[in-house]
Amino acid sequence: MKITYLGTAAAEGWPALFCNCEYCKKAKELGGKNLRSRSQALINEDLLIDFPADTYHHVLMNRFDLSAVKHCFVTHSHIDHFEPTDLIMRMESCFAHKMTEPTLHIYGNKAVLDRYNHFVRDTDEEDIPPSVTVNEIEAYDSVKAGKYTVTALPAYHAPKETPFVYIITDGEKTLLYLHDTGIPFDEVFDYLEKNKIRADLISYDCTYVALPSAGGHMGLDSVPLVKQRLESIGVCDEKTVNVVNHFSHNGMLLHDELCEAAEKLGFLVSYDGMTIEF
Ligand SMILES: [Zn+2]
Ligand SMILES: [Zn+2]
Ligand SMILES: [Zn+2]
Repeated sequence: MKITYLGTAAAEGWPALFCNCEYCKKAKELGGKNLRSRSQALINEDLLIDFPADTYHHVLMNRFDLSAVKHCFVTHSHIDHFEPTDLIMRMESCFAHKMTEPTLHIYGNKAVLDRYNHFVRDTDEEDIPPSVTVNEIEAYDSVKAGKYTVTALPAYHAPKETPFVYIITDGEKTLLYLHDTGIPFDEVFDYLEKNKIRADLISYDCTYVALPSAGGHMGLDSVPLVKQRLESIGVCDEKTVNVVNHFSHNGMLLHDELCEAAEKLGFLVSYDGMTIEF
């Protein structure tokens, strides 16, 4: 299985859109891996996690075939994870020729479906692409999506809705995608243990970076605790690839500094365009 981190920042991006803090200024100066767009990941070439407004930027930067993506699992309705307006561009004949896959199937919670329906209400009927389906799923649903089985688990984040973290498996390899979430609920650890989930790669929310973590996100102080707990119930071991991702400029550490801090704890640091085969 292959994961490509298309965007690795929290909601504001890094540099943040309107920000002149020291860490955004440094990111602009240094460029490269310090420039982080909003959260999205591509699994192999055909499964997407999240659909933010930065999707177009991600296609430009990574030059992949977005029309080849058959399934998109949305974590929650926050704008850095789901912005449906550009789905208009999946209109055969006018905006999109010779698409690889006839239909893009999107899955998400009720808030994601509501957001999509809101977009549909505000859009002229002829602009609503017939080649997109949006399907509501609930926590603990397992969806068969082509060769993948994707299971939604409740995230500790955004209490107005039920956000999801996901287990994605192709039968051979398993990815545990922990975005956006604070330290997961006990029931999530229980589910993973009871169902004997073993992850080959775990992607951890690390929004707070060097700040003390709180509420619905984690940081460098909490991800080692979660990793330890996952190890203790057999979800991961020394073969598992552990990655931190989804960083806020408020967390202060630029890419190289963050690598130094995270690698000591046993984590790789994602950057926009990073690909990992596992
Ligand atoms: Zn986010
Ligand atoms: Zn800033
Ligand atoms: Zn969020």
